[in-house]
Amino acid sequence: MGTHFRPAVTSDVYGKTHPEYYAYFNGSRHPGKASQWCLTNDEVFELVSRRIDSIFKANPGKNIISVSQNDGNFTNCTCDQCKAIDDYEGALSGSVVTFLNKLAARFPDKEFSTLAYLYTMQPPKHIKPLPNVNIMLCDIDCNREVSLTENASGREFVRAMEGWSAISDNIFIWDYGINFDNYVSPFPNFHILQDNIRLFRKNHATMHFSQISSSRGGDFAELRSYLVNKLMWNPELNVDSLLHHFLNGYYGPAGFSIRIHQSDGRCPAGQRHKALDLRFTCFTQIRDAKA
Ligand SMILES: [Zn+2]
Repeated sequence: MGTHFRPAVTSDVYGKTHPEYYAYFNGSRHPGKASQWCLTNDEVFELVSRRIDSIFKANPGKNIISVSQNDGNFTNCTCDQCKAIDDYEGALSGSVVTFLNKLAARFPDKEFSTLAYLYTMQPPKHIKPLPNVNIMLCDIDCNREVSLTENASGREFVRAMEGWSAISDNIFIWDYGINFDNYVSPFPNFHILQDNIRLFRKNHATMHFSQISSSRGGDFAELRSYLVNKLMWNPELNVDSLLHHFLNGYYGPAGFSIRIHQSDGRCPAGQRHKALDLRFTCFTQIRDAKA
């Protein structure tokens, strides 16, 4: 079960009467569709607690829920109380983890997952997430042509991941094998999957969501799903063997040709695109990808 901040304290209901429930920045409160909450407002905490209690009661047997920032960068609350926490913690995740720990303490037999991405990607300096707070760390903005340790955006993510793994054993990685701007464009990440999944394991990731285009027509979505699934079970498997096995089994006699296509210069895949000096992310058109 999951929720961004939006539905639990919806602006449609409280925006006019209680603007103080929503993020303060640029001199005013910002109730609205994608507004973040003011995380130090006690009434917000009570409303969220009641909502969570009712969700769990309506879903017996369910034990984990996501309570996460809305999409949108730098829309966090900067009121005096929220800012004091975030300044002390040296990260905008400070007020989020403080809020999540309060929820986790109120519902000790439940687990709370929260996204760490965009402005909350970096970990706090002092507070530690309680054991029943799960950190769902997303590497959405990283370049994909090389593994995470081999490019600047990836290294920034790795620093954040190492910081979180130093204070939590409960990390859920949200990784991407998808181009949101063009699902059918090549997404040549097969050769970086193993390095990245090894890295996630090393940094206490116990869960991994790999977002891959499941629509028909996504670039080798079935192959990508197969490789990721196999490597999740065992990150030390031989990727070439897995590739070979899947292509021959799935495409039959065409498997060999597809393998050639995957590794030659006509398709910027395999290692070859390194030489082409391509850069690409989840939001990059391949034709615009050259750095
Ligand atoms: Zn605030």
